[in-house]
Amino acid sequence: MSTGRPCARCQQLTDRPVRVREIHSATGPGYNLWACPGCAPHYPPGPDALVDVRWKEYLDHVALCRRCLGNGDHCPRAVARHAAWKAARVATREGSR
Ligand SMILES: [Zn+2]
Ligand SMILES: [Zn+2]
Repeated sequence: MSTGRPCARCQQLTDRPVRVREIHSATGPGYNLWACPGCAPHYPPGPDALVDVRWKEYLDHVALCRRCLGNGDHCPRAVARHAAWKAARVATREGSR
């Protein structure tokens, strides 16, 4: 198994994650967004908060869901969260290109 982190932009696992965003949570410890070296310079610096939140929700689910972890596939809930992230991303200028 790879120990890399998923890139927040291209979703590829990267062994050399670059921290592109630090999200402060009101309910717990902060959360870091990671990108691969190739994407980091292109990651939008703007406040795409909704996209970040959706991505975090997706990662949080995948990290805890036995079904998602078990077979490496996405359960319906993961698919729904992933779709929500994509929808939020499309709404940004990053996704509109
Ligand atoms: Zn990437
Ligand atoms: Zn799942």
